[in-house]
Amino acid sequence: MSARILVVDDIESNVRLLEAKLSAEYFEVLTAYDGPTALAIAGSERPDIILLDVMMPGMDGFQVCRRLKEDPTTRHVPVVLVTALDGRADRVAGLEAGADDFLTKPIDDVMLMARVRSLTRLKGVIDELRAREASGRRVGVIAGAASRLGGSGGRILIVDDNERQAERVASELAVEHRPVIEREAATALLAARGLVDLVILNANAKSFDGLRLAAQLRSDEATRGVPILAIADIDERARAVKALEIGVNDILARPVDPGELAARVRTQIRRKRYTDYLRANLDHSLELAVTDQLTGLHNRRYMATQLEALMERARHGGQPVSVLVIDIDHFKRVNDSFGHDVGDEVLAEFAVRLASNVRAVDLPVRHGGEEFVVVMPDTDLEDARRIAERIRLHAAGAPFRVMGGGELLGVTISVGVAQSAGGGDTPTALLKRADEAVYEAKARGRNRVIARAA
Ligand code: GH3
Ligand code: MG
Ligand code: MG
Repeated sequence: MSARILVVDDIESNVRLLEAKLSAEYFEVLTAYDGPTALAIAGSERPDIILLDVMMPGMDGFQVCRRLKEDPTTRHVPVVLVTALDGRADRVAGLEAGADDFLTKPIDDVMLMARVRSLTRLKGVIDELRAREASGRRVGVIAGAASRLGGSGGRILIVDDNERQAERVASELAVEHRPVIEREAATALLAARGLVDLVILNANAKSFDGLRLAAQLRSDEATRGVPILAIADIDERARAVKALEIGVNDILARPVDPGELAARVRTQIRRKRYTDYLRANLDHSLELAVTDQLTGLHNRRYMATQLEALMERARHGGQPVSVLVIDIDHFKRVNDSFGHDVGDEVLAEFAVRLASNVRAVDLPVRHGGEEFVVVMPDTDLEDARRIAERIRLHAAGAPFRVMGGGELLGVTISVGVAQSAGGGDTPTALLKRADEAVYEAKARGRNRVIARAA
């Protein structure tokens, strides 16, 4: 399992050290000593993983990370931030910048390999899904939405014969997740075949061989995709390395630090949801036509599956979903005055303005005719209204160039905004509320945004 890794650090000896460690494990290493160079190399060389120092003069690691995640061509490349030893604040800032994982300085060899191997595997899965996907753009949209899938509320199987350690891990995790303890390998194998988001196993268990169990979980079709976090004695390096070779996703050193445990668990669960989500979407959409021919936006059918999934998540304690319904004002007049083809030009131009004024996580859709919808994951009514206002201004703010630039047309839109509610709310009901708000916007004189509370 090899990969191209870009190492970024302003201190040359740090770069050289990492380069030596990674090269010894047969990784191909690219290097950069500052943010702008890192961005240029990331764009041109397409590394599989980026190891990024936080503290750099000029553009720091957070800024570089943010820029990488904003660019559709580099967004899917996993970024590992290298932080100071006690970098809790850095971690929060890093997560906000879109970082995929962390390493603390001084860098431990086993942890370095754990992170790098785990991300190489993840990247492999994502690349495979991307290759099977005709339009990379769509994956960008999905990846954006999926990266917001949380890492909390996971079903976790703890396999450990050390009573005290198991209980302590379980009680730490119970705040946020649903942990279950199994003390024997045989029963654990069965339990892992159920709905499990993560297996945490003791690699140094006395009554069973933790590494054998990891190997069994990896070879069993039913549990192959479940991430494994091994609790290991970091001093027994050979064993920790062996665990990684078998396919353990990450290693947690003993004694278990609660903050580290919480962060590692969240990362693994988030990643599993991410690949599950990509797979589910791909399977679903392969046989469906998902794009609108005229505008290149997604169509109504595609939107329906996305919205359904997001509302399902919202119902189970996730963040609310908001939708915009957008209707072009007096569009019939465009057709009547200039012909249907010019009408089509306006629709295509509006689609471009729409797509460039929503966030990466949002899903802009041509719903039909001169009506568009934007699905906004994890967005409340007020944020959605603000984005709607921006879109409205970008339509009304500058005339539309049609007929090869020969004619300028003023185009305005009316927008209805609605947010998902708890309980029995459905996509149909949500879109209906947004529709009613559009109706109200029209009645009040058009070229405006109306938000409708549930
Ligand atoms: P309002 O402000 O009330 O929305 O007025 P409107 O004229 O935009 O609304 P109405 O629903 O009366 O008319 C919509 C028009 O859009 C009618 C239809 O012929 C036209 N239309 C629908 N789909 C297309 C299309 O794909 N291309 C073109 N050129 N026109 C379309
Ligand atoms: Mg209409
Ligand atoms: Mg209209």
